Amino acid sequence: MLISVGHFSGRGLFKWIAGFAAIGLVFFSYDQFWPAPDLGPPKIISRAEWGAEQADPRLEPDQDPEVFNTVVVHHSAMLLSEGPRDIQSVHMHQRGFLDIGYHFVIDGEGRIYEGRSLATHGAHVAGHNAGTLGIALMGNYEIIEPATEQRVRLKWLIQALMRKYPLTHLAGHGDFAPGKTLCPGKNLEALLPTLAKELGLKFGVGGYVGPEPGAPALNPAL
Ligand SMILES: [Zn+2]
Repeated sequence: MLISVGHFSGRGLFKWIAGFAAIGLVFFSYDQFWPAPDLGPPKIISRAEWGAEQADPRLEPDQDPEVFNTVVVHHSAMLLSEGPRDIQSVHMHQRGFLDIGYHFVIDGEGRIYEGRSLATHGAHVAGHNAGTLGIALMGNYEIIEPATEQRVRLKWLIQALMRKYPLTHLAGHGDFAPGKTLCPGKNLEALLPTLAKELGLKFGVGGYVGPEPGAPALNPAL
């Protein structure tokens, strides 16, 4: 049987093929960056549950904790198996921080751990801890790729935080200090512009406001 394909011929057929290819590319790209399997609401593992060490009593609540407007994404740059206790130990006993530096930590299976109190500034991005919320993925994303569960939970967590704080920007640690740190690792950093777009946030460091507490004056060159 002869089937008429007259209206599909020539440029018309090309447009159909190009159109389907474009749609396929969009879905493929989306799936590669922020896949949307519904893992359900995560449980946030409290400091007591993961056995956090007491923060140094010199760590006091800030006067203006409501100014969080930027999410800064980090990696621990440690083994994927090294959790919040390991990170807290490095931060407090090797670097001299008053507590774990990040507000949240996410492990390789997407479990979320409560970090430093949200009533205090973090210690995660030198010179820019005011106004910035620190979230770290366990592992080293210069070497490994973030797991789907981690990406889904990171997005979920930021969406939850957007309901609590007037967040406007999302950036990787290295965006604040180009050339000075590999954090959050190239494999994670590469995904952040797409994540910001999907969340309706601006990608970059522009949301930062105000000087770091206790700092004399912010060096505008930094
Ligand atoms: Zn970092």
